Amino acid sequence: MVCLKGSVYLARGKGRSWFGFTHDPALDLTVLHPEGVDSLVSLTPNLPIGIALYILQRLRAEAEKKNPADFQPRPSQTGRFWRKLARTLGWGLLEPAEPTVAETGGQEYAYGRPVTEKNDPELSLWSRRTITLLRDLHELPETTTGFPLHVYRPSGGEETLCWLADLKRVAEVLEGRLLFTSELEMALVEKSQLDGIPFPVGQLEDILQVLALAGIVEIYPSVMMTGPEQVRCVRCGQDSRIAASPCVRCGREKCYYCEECLTMGEARLCRPLYGLAGDENWVARWSQNVLPWLMERIPDSGSEPWESEPREIEECNSPMQSVHDAAMAPAPKEGYSPFWPVLTFPLTPAQEAASEQLLHWLDGNFPERREALVWAACGAGKTEVAFAAIAQVLRRGGRVLFAVPRRDVVLELAPRLQCAFPGIPVTTLYGGSRERFGTSPLVAATTHQAIRFYRAFDLVVLDEVDAFPYQGSAMLYHAVARSRKRAGPVILMTATPDAQMKCEVRSKRMQLVSIPARHHGQPLPVPQILLEKEWRWDREQLIFPEKLLTFLHRSVEGDLSQVFLFVPSVFLAHRVGESLKAATRLPPFNDFKGTWVEYSHSRDPDREAKRQRFSRQLFPIFVTTSIMERGITVPRANVVVLFAENERIYDERTLIQMAGRAGRSTERPYGDVWFVATKITAAMQEAVDTIHWLNGQAQKQGFLLSEEKAAQ
Ligand SMILES: [Zn+2]
Ligand SMILES: [Zn+2]
Repeated sequence: MVCLKGSVYLARGKGRSWFGFTHDPALDLTVLHPEGVDSLVSLTPNLPIGIALYILQRLRAEAEKKNPADFQPRPSQTGRFWRKLARTLGWGLLEPAEPTVAETGGQEYAYGRPVTEKNDPELSLWSRRTITLLRDLHELPETTTGFPLHVYRPSGGEETLCWLADLKRVAEVLEGRLLFTSELEMALVEKSQLDGIPFPVGQLEDILQVLALAGIVEIYPSVMMTGPEQVRCVRCGQDSRIAASPCVRCGREKCYYCEECLTMGEARLCRPLYGLAGDENWVARWSQNVLPWLMERIPDSGSEPWESEPREIEECNSPMQSVHDAAMAPAPKEGYSPFWPVLTFPLTPAQEAASEQLLHWLDGNFPERREALVWAACGAGKTEVAFAAIAQVLRRGGRVLFAVPRRDVVLELAPRLQCAFPGIPVTTLYGGSRERFGTSPLVAATTHQAIRFYRAFDLVVLDEVDAFPYQGSAMLYHAVARSRKRAGPVILMTATPDAQMKCEVRSKRMQLVSIPARHHGQPLPVPQILLEKEWRWDREQLIFPEKLLTFLHRSVEGDLSQVFLFVPSVFLAHRVGESLKAATRLPPFNDFKGTWVEYSHSRDPDREAKRQRFSRQLFPIFVTTSIMERGITVPRANVVVLFAENERIYDERTLIQMAGRAGRSTERPYGDVWFVATKITAAMQEAVDTIHWLNGQAQKQGFLLSEEKAAQ
């Protein structure tokens, strides 16, 4: 873990002044001197980047208020270099400085010589402001009236900062990414291992600073001060879950870190993040017009390889570390591979229609809607519907992120994508994934992985947006929004959109594409409601209503179906499971030697084994909490939701997901769904209404088979 400390400085030259931040003023001066900068004065002691950049931004804002006209660089006065400086984080041009004693004293200072601001009104103003800001942040004792300012002047000697080839290499690896130093180092070392060209990792900090001075790389603290006592995580965008602790890296008593994105590596006040936007073509335009001024000053290493060996880097032990350069992958060449997706099954008419609607939207026919919602009935098959849109983007040389909520879903998705796009190696990223550094324009990843991308993707597809952990996570929402290119389209896919998404659709800010029918062309089973005013218990045994026992018996011995029996808590999974085991030992259930009933919940260590045994139809009744509401399909299924009135657990969307377990297969395209409850809640009613609505849509669009046809 690298901590970045540096100072805020005032740079002056050519009659102008501006603020900057650096870990090494001499480095900045060497780069800036040829542009006419003849002195840097450090305004602060060495501070963690999170504090230094806060001060820098405050000074810049004040300077802008004083001289708004001068802050905006005027084209006649300023070249590209100045504009770049102005748009880099925290930089701003100031009013032209009056010649001062410090400027005109005629004395050439050596690097870092103390200077006094006496008779230098500009320096005196900003140094006083800086002291006030530092005091507000409790960075200075009340009694301190100042500290020595240091002036830096060019030494006159020509120095080689670094090789141009190394600058470019860092830009290539970082493009489209937002990374900690350790992650970037890992990516650089992996690239070195691949192409055999060593990289001087020891110079990385300087190289990044030079790229930042050129306006290419953006440097952020991963946690930033936004005011005295106020902090925000730059990485995940939230400010509510930030804690303070003593820090061994920067040596401070109180250094802030982010609890929200901790599993992805520790964001801290003193830890920098480096970003290079993926949609500005810095690398592609490198030789033409990105860095003419740098090119003149920095030698290209040419064919001479760098002599030093890359040094060992610290291993990241975070489980979520995984670095990959998909974002900088070369664009696929025209005609390189057939970009039409290969499908193992033909699309159903409903899927076909949805797929075409997505293409129509992607081609910019609804420019005000950058997001499309694919609303699919449970089991209607939404993943393949996005393939044509993905192919379209890949064919045009774009990059695609297909993000899903959990690792197990990525592992299941990646081979399907690979089958569909045989010409393109799919990069698979998740916490602890083996793959870290590929070159594919098609990335399958958990939504968490989006946090390491920066304006990289031409299309983002988010599957199961309603599922944990994406649902309700400001962090993941922030990460996904940042991973796409500016105004890049996003496809959201779900069987159960939330109120917010429905509202976006109604107000025409989001394109709606629905897949209301399953592949077999039968309507979704509509839940029936069984009211049970009072539940009766006999000691620890639940007394099941007669109707329910009859239904369960008919399901397993009559229909030869399996039953999902959902309960709202771990406690109830246990109690209901045991009670039902006892009840099924009695008539009308046959005296069956095997197990009628198993139960499971999130704290059950055997839940995965039970899930698999139920999938393989080894027992008929599965009592479970909502952990089994997704991703488990059996050919013949009925569904019972017990205590369905529990609104805290069972919202409309959970109820629809659970009901969606029934009637999925061609073998038994129908099924029974029962909500057993003491009363009818709004959520239950909405779930029933939504299922009716989807069936109505399917009917209207002609996706349901007529009864005679179904009977054939
Ligand atoms: Zn965070
Ligand atoms: Zn620290």
